[in-house]
Amino acid sequence: MLKISNLEVAYGGIEAVRGIDLEVPEGSIVTLIGSNGAGKSTTLRSIVNLVKSKSGSISYFGEELMGLDTTKIVDKGITLVPEGRHVFPDLTVLENLKIGAYMRKDSLKEDIQMIYNLFPRLEERSWQLAGTLSGGEQQMLAVGRAMMSRPKLLMMDEPSLGLAPLVVKGIFDIIQTLNKEGMTILLIEQNANSALKIADYAYVLETGKITKQGTGKELLNDESIKEAYLGKS
Ligand code: ATP
Repeated sequence: MLKISNLEVAYGGIEAVRGIDLEVPEGSIVTLIGSNGAGKSTTLRSIVNLVKSKSGSISYFGEELMGLDTTKIVDKGITLVPEGRHVFPDLTVLENLKIGAYMRKDSLKEDIQMIYNLFPRLEERSWQLAGTLSGGEQQMLAVGRAMMSRPKLLMMDEPSLGLAPLVVKGIFDIIQTLNKEGMTILLIEQNANSALKIADYAYVLETGKITKQGTGKELLNDESIKEAYLGKS
């Protein structure tokens, strides 16, 4: 579905991504783990052309994305839930969800109900201003809003950041539910343990390079990964 070859991205003279190859097969969950500043967010942002790539190729169903406008890329079914919870604080929950579907003209009712079924908390609070939601609720809303564009490929940048363990579990359950319903997922996580458990395939990124890859299970059992990312217990 998505095939990245030899991608390089630099900010000024500083190379954040140094020639990576990465594949996301349709229907899979792929995760990208790595320490702070490794280039994970930069990789996702370059896929939707929020940062300009220096060289390489980003092919989506065989079509080159590099250089296309972000809106054109989103139109093709790729959505990014960025790090941090970018909801519109002065709009209600329901208004935030409707904005997620701004490019669609068909009926939204069914999709809003589907999101409310996944996140009953949002339904209870549909008239509440998003800025007054708790951190976990805002994250649910950010995920829900991304789903309103009905992406084929949902990319999530650290959805569990700063959330309580129970909420993290809820988010990971929902990622799996979306995947079972056919959505392809590319996930960045600091919480490597949870991410590897649900991932079909995983890449480890260190200072802009892929240093290791394998199935989620393989990396969960890899001694060097355990030491660097999973704690020693
Ligand atoms: P984290 O887990 O901390 O979010 P990350 O793996 O997502 O890290 P990136 O955010 O992709 O890492 O950053 C990679 C490198 O690029 C870092 O050294 C960062 O300081 C640098 N960088 C990111 N954005 C910019 C920018 N807009 N201008 C200059 N340098 C940047």
